[in-house]
Amino acid sequence: MKYTFKGGTHVEEHKNTAGCAIEPMPVPATVSIALSQHIGAPCTPLVKVGDTVTRGQMIGSVENALGCPVHSSVSGKVIAIDSRNNAQGVPIQNIVIENDGQGTLCPDIVPLEGSYLDRSADELIERIRLAGISGMGGAMFPTYAKIRSALGKVDHIIINCAECEPYITADCRVMIEYTDRLVNGVKILMHIFGLDSAYIAVEDNKPESIAALERETRDFPNIKVCVCKTKYPQGDERQLMYALTRRQLPPGKLPADMGCVFFNASSCVAIHNAVVCGMPVIERVITVDGDCVNTPKNVLAPIGASFSDLIEFAGGLKKDPYMLVSGGPMMGAAQWDIKGPVIKGTSALLVLSEDQFTHYNEPSVCIRCGRCVKNCPMHLMPNYLVRFARLGKFDEAAKLGVMSCVECGTCSYNCPGHMMIVQHIRVAKGALRAKK
Ligand code: SF4
Ligand code: SF4
Repeated sequence: MKYTFKGGTHVEEHKNTAGCAIEPMPVPATVSIALSQHIGAPCTPLVKVGDTVTRGQMIGSVENALGCPVHSSVSGKVIAIDSRNNAQGVPIQNIVIENDGQGTLCPDIVPLEGSYLDRSADELIERIRLAGISGMGGAMFPTYAKIRSALGKVDHIIINCAECEPYITADCRVMIEYTDRLVNGVKILMHIFGLDSAYIAVEDNKPESIAALERETRDFPNIKVCVCKTKYPQGDERQLMYALTRRQLPPGKLPADMGCVFFNASSCVAIHNAVVCGMPVIERVITVDGDCVNTPKNVLAPIGASFSDLIEFAGGLKKDPYMLVSGGPMMGAAQWDIKGPVIKGTSALLVLSEDQFTHYNEPSVCIRCGRCVKNCPMHLMPNYLVRFARLGKFDEAAKLGVMSCVECGTCSYNCPGHMMIVQHIRVAKGALRAKK
């Protein structure tokens, strides 16, 4: 049986790089480490201009608040601490480091002595916190905080390997090439939560990943590889929870309230690296694709490399770019700065030409086909939400549950009237948040 959820849609997959092995890119001459790469308070710098730093050294931390420390991905010298826009266009402090080319490892990075099985949950959570792990699927919620808040409340650990957004294949390759570390990360989580089972959810368009995970878990029947029907947005936690457990998440509740906790594939690898090796998050796998890119590929990139470094490593551009997107085309964010830095939540960089976009001469209009209602995975009425949002009647939109919209874009993708539904919904949600 293949697991699935109600609603959603099949989007064009464009998984062009699924067969592209992960390639480590050369470490650039400078890296720019953002002091906020997570949900929560930004880090305070622990270094100043002129300081020398080592690879993996903690250079920013958050005290007494929700947040993750950040670490240098190179050894070298701090040459600036300045403000740059992040992927959402918000100005964030960055520490700019000139790479000395030595790759000198920080002496604080020490592997765990003995087995993690002999360590308490608190000790392991602290190692995860110090490694600066935040949700690497793009949610960027601090992993230590997610674990702490779910301890004692959950009976299901679910590893979200759906990767349902078009183009992105970074986790697909992680499942194939880092299988042992991923599965060990799952075992560490099982030990922390005191649970004897876990579920790895993968869409059926990743047969090589499924085979690798099934091989790796052959002797551990309590880690179940769950094959899900390929459908967007399968990777949304609410949909995945329903698909696997038939539990529904009421508005305002967290998955842990329903007994489930979710981790991304790359986050599990990061948990292994942190607990077993003492290694913080200083690099990640990123898909670089789009019809403008000469050689689309999966890149192991240092945190703080720029988007232009990634594009250069992928052979540069063969067409004039129209849009640069950080993340997938459905939920990613358009960028205006090619010098923007890679952060822990960057799963993909897409460079798309104008050919990929359709421009309509006629004004958008709702023809009341009902398609958006049929496909909305949150069972909303996007046709009414967009109408109220356009009229500025945000309270009416709120009554129809606009705040429950997960902004997956399924409604806009399918709309024959070319209504920019999700964009208007975002405006309504922003206005309602501001009012609150
Ligand atoms: S899909 Fe578009 S045209 Fe159809 S009901 Fe929804 S908003 Fe109207
Ligand atoms: S209304 Fe929101 S949740 Fe529903 S399909 Fe549109 S973007 Fe997705």
